Amino acid sequence: MFASRLQILDRAKTWAFPPDCLRCGDRVEIPYGLCGPCWAEAQFIGKSCCHACGDELIGEEAAPSDLCDACLMRPPPWDAGRAVLRYEGTGRALVLALKHGDRADICRAASSWMAEKAQDWLDQNPLLVPIPLHPLRLLQRRFNQSALLAQHICRTPQFREHAITCLPDALSRLRRTAPQDGLGAEARFANLDEALALTPRHGERLRGRAVILIDDVMTSGATLWSATHALRLGGAGPIYVLVMARATKAA
Ligand SMILES: [Zn+2]
Ligand SMILES: [Zn+2]
Repeated sequence: MFASRLQILDRAKTWAFPPDCLRCGDRVEIPYGLCGPCWAEAQFIGKSCCHACGDELIGEEAAPSDLCDACLMRPPPWDAGRAVLRYEGTGRALVLALKHGDRADICRAASSWMAEKAQDWLDQNPLLVPIPLHPLRLLQRRFNQSALLAQHICRTPQFREHAITCLPDALSRLRRTAPQDGLGAEARFANLDEALALTPRHGERLRGRAVILIDDVMTSGATLWSATHALRLGGAGPIYVLVMARATKAA
């Protein structure tokens, strides 16, 4: 079979600009991929995972409703959650590179990994809602990595097929929260108490709608907790959570 013009263009581009590993920049065979050592350091989460936060469950294959210890202690308010990677090694490096550098290549790879995880939610016609940054922090950083991920996820074949759209400003920050780094879980929850609210002009659009909340990393889950409360107050639901990486300790 003859290669299409697009395939030929793709091959020519790969020959002229050999693809780099997403993490370390070494040459790789496949665009938007990882080299051997970076792949070995990536902890992709399999099917046996916590129903609420998506963290890997060790041991025998988990039942669909099984929870990890953290979620058993404090069950999250959303209906289900999934994560692609553990926030260690390559997972952590990719999240940090995305947060602090304009890395559309990471977004492209991460969005296709995340889209895979959300397959069985798509029939409910959910809206994608990224966790917002405070406007001042957005000014400093120039972009919101969660909104960028959400926009890329909307462009994946699975999401386009279901015509799923993104509502980047569905949630707003009520006040600027202190940086979360170095705070324990309880302090994080206090810090973020009611920090997010529905943007009033989107109230009607969200009422009765399924929502997939998008964030780059879930640590304590406090931000996603606040977002879920805001969405539920506005009558949205069910609420799903989809993150690139799950961190189990304060990071
Ligand atoms: Zn590498
Ligand atoms: Zn969990």
